[in-house]
Amino acid sequence: MQESGIRGKFEELFGQLPDVIAAAPGRVNLIGEHIDYSDGYVLPFAITERTYAAVRRRSDRLVRIASAQRGNMVITVKLDDVRPGLKGQWERYVLGVLWALKIDHGVDVMIDGHVPLGAGLSSSAALECSVAIALDELFSLGFDLKALARLAQKAENGYVGVPCGIMDQSVALLAKPGSALLLDCRDLTSRDIDFDLASNALELLIIDTQAHHSLTDGAYAQRRASCDSVVTKLGVQSMRELTLNQLEESQDLITDNEFIRARHAVTEIARVLDAVQALESQDFVELGHLLNASHRSLRDDYEVSCSELNTAVDSAISAGALGARMIGAGFGGSAIALIKADQSQGIIREIKIAFGGKGFKPPRFFTSLPSQGAQIIQRAPQI
Ligand code: ADP
Ligand code: MG
Repeated sequence: MQESGIRGKFEELFGQLPDVIAAAPGRVNLIGEHIDYSDGYVLPFAITERTYAAVRRRSDRLVRIASAQRGNMVITVKLDDVRPGLKGQWERYVLGVLWALKIDHGVDVMIDGHVPLGAGLSSSAALECSVAIALDELFSLGFDLKALARLAQKAENGYVGVPCGIMDQSVALLAKPGSALLLDCRDLTSRDIDFDLASNALELLIIDTQAHHSLTDGAYAQRRASCDSVVTKLGVQSMRELTLNQLEESQDLITDNEFIRARHAVTEIARVLDAVQALESQDFVELGHLLNASHRSLRDDYEVSCSELNTAVDSAISAGALGARMIGAGFGGSAIALIKADQSQGIIREIKIAFGGKGFKPPRFFTSLPSQGAQIIQRAPQI
């Protein structure tokens, strides 16, 4: 496993070699969007791109942090000042992990990676998890991967202040190469599902639209509130307990808007289980249909798509993709397309032409096969 040259960069910046190097990947959620907070299932996989964290124990109580993606500027913080509410920028993701893991020593931390930032591929969880697993190794904390996922989530929720679910951290830590991770958001149990694109000559194309429409925060809260309201009005614990039939029979008890929001949640939960079946029978044509249905549901019922995402999806499908959908919270970010590996260039060209024709910013493209979760690349020295 490459360590992306971070060993040398660490030494250049901090004057000594790191004690531990770890890496954690970004992720794509194949299907199961906007249902983590409805007790649903999600089916993410780790992408090839990863974030590296190199750490070294210090003998004092200072924390020094730098990232190659932030100009290698060294940020110095006193460990005793680290608490939620301390102002800062990106380094709060790292400090949040120190806080969640209750680290009581000074450390030097250097970050470098290839997960695109803010593209919906969860660079934030890759960052948190690379640091979490590196610190666990450095200080022999002995947390298992699930516990580390919860602590990394705690860092993002409680320290950075982003109310994310547990999916991103779970997949960054638990993913297996050639597999997607079926995660039950109700009890956090998980199962590896074979997702062997390579031997089927398939590939997953990730299209970063580079669009970021600003209404995301309010819209996210509104969607959650609609789901909560339906659950209360229908007297159920969560959307997980509702079938589409039951929802349709109860339509009079909720508003039209609540009905379509709930219809997305209920059908999307079912689609994840159908996708697992499709994967288990290696039926990638069916998987493509499910991706398309997920996109239509997010676009028409949940109303979280945007023109750039719809253009990416529509042009991928018309250029021959087996299926495509927006991923992430919506209103920008990335879409995915399940494609035949040998059609990749043609599909990319068609999407670029469609974006150009509409005057959108050019998208960025990545392809990825399901990859390995977090790893220790350089173990701690034996003391
Ligand atoms: P996403 O997780 O989809 O990439 P987020 O907004 O949740 O988007 O997280 C992106 C933020 O995480 C960045 O703005 C930055 O603060 C932080 N971040 C992630 N990776 C790095 C990195 N390699 N170096 C510095 N900061 C990073
Ligand atoms: Mg994030």
